[in-house]
Amino acid sequence: MELSADRVAGGGASCGGPASHVQKVPLRTCIGCGGKAAQGELVRLRVVEGQVVVDRERSGGRGAWLHAAERCLERAAKRRAFGRAFRSSGVQADARGLRDLLTGSARKD
Ligand SMILES: [Zn+2]
Repeated sequence: MELSADRVAGGGASCGGPASHVQKVPLRTCIGCGGKAAQGELVRLRVVEGQVVVDRERSGGRGAWLHAAERCLERAAKRRAFGRAFRSSGVQADARGLRDLLTGSARKD
């Protein structure tokens, strides 16, 4: 199969998409890697009785956002980012339990 010469040679100036249309997606900061991402790419965490849990209902109140990635979870735990994010040094982050919640997508309910 040969390439014929009927390539569309119109315009030529438009590469990529129009950048003028900016979507208003609220960006959140991952407390693990510090990167910013849309809410849909992050998992919301909150504290219930001193324990960090995944807030699936997005129930409001103070929350923290984290990539559903083990790497970010570990970084957050090492940096004690949970205590900082929740303004409470007494916050307990069960890294193992959270990892299951984040990466295992536990469908127990
Ligand atoms: Zn991250």
